[in-house]
Amino acid sequence: MKKIPRFLTVFLAYSVLTILNGAPDLVPMPKVYKETGQVFQIDGNNVFTEKGNRQGEIAVDELQKKTAELGGAALKGGEIKDISAPGIYILTVKNEKAGDFKKKYQLEITDENPGIQGYVIKVTNEQAVVIGSDSVGALYGAMTLRQMMKKQDGKIIVSSCDVRDWPDFKFRSSMSYARGISQLAFGEKTREEQVAAYKAGVDMMLHFKMNVIFDYTFSRINVWDFDANWKSLASEVNKYALERGIYPSNYDTTAITNSTKDKLTDELKNWKCVKESRHGKMSFHCWSADKMQKEKIEKAADFYKECNFGIVFIHPVDGGAIEDPEMWSHRCPECRKLWKDGERWKATVHQLNMWADIFRKKAPGVILESPIYPYNAVYSNRERFPNVSRELWKQNSIDFWTNVNRELDPSVLTGSWMSARDAMDKYRTCWKGRAMDFNDHYPIDAGIFSTYYRYIITNFYGNPGDMYLSRGTTVYGSWLTLIDCCEFSWNTLSPGNEEFKGLFYDPEKDHTQPDVIMNDWLPMACRNFYGEKVGNLIVKMYQSGIQPYYIVEPGRALERANKSRRKPMADMDPNNVSKKSEAASIAPDIIDNPARMAFQVKAAEKSMQALEEAWKHYNTMNKYQKKLFIYYYKRMPELYAIARANYADRVAGELQKDGMFDAAAAVLENALKNLKADSEKAQAVKTQIKDEQDIMAPDKLKFGTIPKLSEIKKMIESRLADAKVILKPRRPGRFVNIAVYDGTGAKGTIEFFSQFKNVKAEIISSLNLSVLDKYDCVFIMKTTKISRNDFFNNLRRYVVEGGGGVLIEHDLIGGERGLFGQTNPFPEVCKSGAKRKDGRKVQTVLEHPIFNGLSKGTVMDLMYVDWIVPVAGEDGSVIVADAVGDAVVVAGTVGSGKAVFSGTISVSSIGGGYDAEEKCLYGLNAAIAEGAVEWFAGVKLEKK
Ligand SMILES: [Zn+2]
Repeated sequence: MKKIPRFLTVFLAYSVLTILNGAPDLVPMPKVYKETGQVFQIDGNNVFTEKGNRQGEIAVDELQKKTAELGGAALKGGEIKDISAPGIYILTVKNEKAGDFKKKYQLEITDENPGIQGYVIKVTNEQAVVIGSDSVGALYGAMTLRQMMKKQDGKIIVSSCDVRDWPDFKFRSSMSYARGISQLAFGEKTREEQVAAYKAGVDMMLHFKMNVIFDYTFSRINVWDFDANWKSLASEVNKYALERGIYPSNYDTTAITNSTKDKLTDELKNWKCVKESRHGKMSFHCWSADKMQKEKIEKAADFYKECNFGIVFIHPVDGGAIEDPEMWSHRCPECRKLWKDGERWKATVHQLNMWADIFRKKAPGVILESPIYPYNAVYSNRERFPNVSRELWKQNSIDFWTNVNRELDPSVLTGSWMSARDAMDKYRTCWKGRAMDFNDHYPIDAGIFSTYYRYIITNFYGNPGDMYLSRGTTVYGSWLTLIDCCEFSWNTLSPGNEEFKGLFYDPEKDHTQPDVIMNDWLPMACRNFYGEKVGNLIVKMYQSGIQPYYIVEPGRALERANKSRRKPMADMDPNNVSKKSEAASIAPDIIDNPARMAFQVKAAEKSMQALEEAWKHYNTMNKYQKKLFIYYYKRMPELYAIARANYADRVAGELQKDGMFDAAAAVLENALKNLKADSEKAQAVKTQIKDEQDIMAPDKLKFGTIPKLSEIKKMIESRLADAKVILKPRRPGRFVNIAVYDGTGAKGTIEFFSQFKNVKAEIISSLNLSVLDKYDCVFIMKTTKISRNDFFNNLRRYVVEGGGGVLIEHDLIGGERGLFGQTNPFPEVCKSGAKRKDGRKVQTVLEHPIFNGLSKGTVMDLMYVDWIVPVAGEDGSVIVADAVGDAVVVAGTVGSGKAVFSGTISVSSIGGGYDAEEKCLYGLNAAIAEGAVEWFAGVKLEKK
């Protein structure tokens, strides 16, 4: 396959830019577009296509609709007689008349040149001729012509021009069915209305040449469990999509069956081979159970054929990483008999070839892909896995892929996440000749428009079977991001393209840069998407850099972002051993601060203004454009209010930290006034649009939920109360008052303390001083909701000045995956969290008041299977460790108070695995909880 020489990249990108200067809004940009100085009038003109060519008919229909939208006289259809008649011609290259046009205009086109989905357009002052290398190419040519149409002096015209275009990736930019297109059908009541909404979504994809739909069924559901209604809707929508060159696709798995935990049959309860469990759903695998496997594949093939699917992804067991891929060591005796430890490749070939054979018979034409495990190209880098032997690494990566490639049916694609070019080159060498599916890194992006698809060029190899697919399942209003994915997968050299180095999503850049995408491409895309009037105004919202997810849940949004900065390899196995095999972090943590929120206040303000201006042209949009518009218009005043309140809260926190309590109070009082005005405005907008349709429930966002403004008011009031708090050490009264910060294990902790008569324990969700001051001690469970200021300033003051006791659990002690990285508020007691360690047996290693007389060397169990090892600071002592001396709990005094760092997590492991459940504390977790409270408060706890 041809590789593009790098030196051409800059040159080509530049020439596209020059060409498009003054050209119509074309998205994606054609490879060649050259104006020839005249105009062609569309409205009232003739339009011809080939008889019986469905894509040609659709093209004519689309041009008719666009003409009507622009208010022009209808096009006149008919049979082509001779090629001298004026009009629009939509043809495929095999058509005889196309041959005549080729001669007439000296057009260079065959079925191989420009090839699959490619087309040429010749527009003179009399004719607009579109010829496709295939019928989808002809349809795409018509879509380009459609984007060229504009109204001028009462006529609908296109500039005469020569266009030549073809896609780099023939499969590109997938759109979610269940969490994307379906949103257009939200609130639609009748089946007809619903079908119309789904079809409108498909049309929107077609207009931008996006050609894969995915995410029909949630994972780990047996496809044959879908009911007749579901199937009938999906098959109707899919048929409509297929006719438009769009491939409906779905993720299935190699699992023989799936089940929820409450519905296990006896056979599944006693499953002898590999099983997986995630989010309450279980999948059951076996490579040797041919009869059952065959039945499953046959049922699946029937389902996919019946529902008109074009691509099926077959996911293998998802876990085990390089050490034990697909958890192969857990296979059953039968599988062991057939395949040795190093022969997993044979089992994979056996299994996937069965899929290929059955689909060839039962659902021919459906493309099969499998992210053959391990499916990340970075596994080809030996250096990443210093903890496994070279032999094992090679057997489970390079050799495995090479062997599978040799024996696997050539029609089955392999799949991987996109990765840096060197790793992908190595990976691809193992898959010589086989087409591949590249996927984005499933970004949980905080914004409404992102530019990360500019990296696609890094994984373009020119194989016509290759796919580049966006996997952001949750779409909501983010159509423009996915259209940008199509831009760069159609035309990898589009301006702004960039070499991928490993960090896929960067919230500090990807919502505002590069300029050429933000300022040149986005306005074109917005005009195309919303129509000219609204597009020209709403683009300011997309350019503002707004991050709704960060505004409503700053801690979680940044935690997600920081995870991928610390760990460049996206999680292949979130539960497991792969944590050991990591390279150094790729970018420093993003530190939350008031300036970051201040930027969001501005961005929300700009967005709100843009939407208000665009609202004036609301009626220029169609029903579905309106729904997407309302999604933003309705929520933006609330986002603005929350951003403003969050900002004031942060500024006040900083002022309080510096002892400027009066200034903090003034900021907060002003914030309350602003919030009142902002709330009224938000309410007014909601009233204004109460009869308009939305794509989702009002408090839903792409990620996160919009809190009630009354809750935001409470937050500010509570911070204001803080300014009046004077901390001093307190003496417990009749009851020891314990606060448990809401997080993992909070329920079990509360349950545990409920058995004591002189304890009152409750869950809190604020670390404001006025809240903390009510309690004798505080337990901080694993959470992502705490703000930096509360954690580092309030909590510290509460202990140092207020004499409180704090117990901090798991990665908040300063684990490398913790919310704030390897830091915590009391480094003199615990410097940070070091490595993560597996194991449950631990023992006391010091006589300490926490243990209340328990002797050194007492062995206890942890509730969970792993912990973060704390590193004691100058004033801290290790009081619990495992058999080889790795610390589990560290304790020490700070100022007038005390702090305990427990690397464990207070949830109970299910069956010894990584799944866990809330349970009343037991084992070491119970001993530490009870002992810590007694130590903090100086009071003996009494059982009821
Ligand atoms: Zn088995």
